[in-house]
Amino acid sequence: MFELPEFVTLAHQANASLTGKVILKGSLGNSPHKFVWYNRGHEEFADLTAGKTVGPARAQGKWLFIPLEPGYVLLLGECGGRLIYHPPGATLPSKYHLWLSFDDGSVLTALTQMWGAYELYEAGQEMQRQYVKDMRPTPLDPEFTFDYFARLISEAVSGARRSTKGLLTQEQLIPGLGNAIAQDIMFRAALHPRHPISELSQAQQQRLYGSILDTTLAVIAGGGRNDEYDLYGQPGRYVRLMDSRAVGQPCPSCGAAIEKIQYLGGSCYLCPDCQV
Ligand SMILES: [Zn+2]
Repeated sequence: MFELPEFVTLAHQANASLTGKVILKGSLGNSPHKFVWYNRGHEEFADLTAGKTVGPARAQGKWLFIPLEPGYVLLLGECGGRLIYHPPGATLPSKYHLWLSFDDGSVLTALTQMWGAYELYEAGQEMQRQYVKDMRPTPLDPEFTFDYFARLISEAVSGARRSTKGLLTQEQLIPGLGNAIAQDIMFRAALHPRHPISELSQAQQQRLYGSILDTTLAVIAGGGRNDEYDLYGQPGRYVRLMDSRAVGQPCPSCGAAIEKIQYLGGSCYLCPDCQV
């Protein structure tokens, strides 16, 4: 599934390759999927998108906002799989959950993996959508300061016993992070996924905060993770330190064998010696 760095990469690439194009035809999927969320009927989507011009895209959390001007915003979110730009003449996929063909013969298609939202809003209404409305600051926002992070920890502790992995992956406390990037964040911060955040020292809080920023920026610099694809169908260049391939391999810091555990609804990969 795409996380914040992949959405940022897709937004940059959409701005390079889609902005200014005029839509000839927009279609919702031809491949029924129980967990694809649409907010428009097929005909309505086609009517509303025809003739619109693609505006400047942006990413926020796990959402990609693509203005279709005048008056609409295409909102793609909480999704994974493929969002692919096909230049004129390219071979097109037979299955898709979203299709936009443009006046120059190019096409944008999307096919999600597990679930995902492909929704079209009147401009402004997209900010009222559940999970977009009231979104907390993401690691890329200027408001995401260490003071804010320390307050978030205090708030997330009250009434709930929450672990480091829980802080990074649950309830969009830090929008845009997910189980994939969380592994490297915890490794760089030398924190075990189960480490209760109520017991983090000031130094550990600072290390975790720094690791969130460093890791997010490193994945963006790599154009996303290498197990996800960009707008041109190319894998990202960021290779995770802690993933299934690391199990049994020596820790890059201390040489201990990397372990895999199941925790909070997913696999965690960690160094049993470095991460406490
Ligand atoms: Zn280690």
